[in-house]
Amino acid sequence: MYSEWFDTTTEYSTMYHEWPRGATFLSFLLSVDQDLAQSAREKACPCGGRLHRANYPRKPRGSAEDLPKDYGYRFSFCCERDGCRKRVTPPSVRFLGRKVYLFAVVVLVSAMRQGPSPRRVRDLSQFFGADRRTIARWQVFWREQIPQTPFWKITRGRLPATAQSSILPRSLVEAFLHGADPCRPWGDLLRFLSPITITGGLPSGFS
Ligand SMILES: [Zn+2]
Repeated sequence: MYSEWFDTTTEYSTMYHEWPRGATFLSFLLSVDQDLAQSAREKACPCGGRLHRANYPRKPRGSAEDLPKDYGYRFSFCCERDGCRKRVTPPSVRFLGRKVYLFAVVVLVSAMRQGPSPRRVRDLSQFFGADRRTIARWQVFWREQIPQTPFWKITRGRLPATAQSSILPRSLVEAFLHGADPCRPWGDLLRFLSPITITGGLPSGFS
């Protein structure tokens, strides 16, 4: 997705050099979301009713390439029973709540603003399209919102000690992203974080 850009940034940390190539990575994330959606659908509604597809339209930003058409919506379901009609939206590795940028971009750009040699906001804005205020909001999100979530309180103990530190999301990126093939580790990282993408996954009032 961003490999051409990273190839030209010589001073940049090696951890992003293997950012997955566009189409393969995007298809891979889509397939993970399809699996998550399938699992949710098989569980059915708590009332016992079957779940019908009722996707939410989306127009995600942040990709340097054209997105596959399946990126035009987030998977979601609705109970078929009258009087219930409960909405079930499975976790996602592509969409983070109501944020319009791709989940991976919210993680990556935030991580790139951290560490010993943070990337300049201007460069990140230019490349990913997110403005200064949006990037600043993402920093607050990782610094102040995520540590308060039930998700983080429960799962941080499962991570290596270095990844439990306060520098989110960079510590997570460093913990997950290694090995020759970056596609799967990115999938693992986003899947690990996916509980924060569903209703109740983030503190109320936050988007
Ligand atoms: Zn139901």
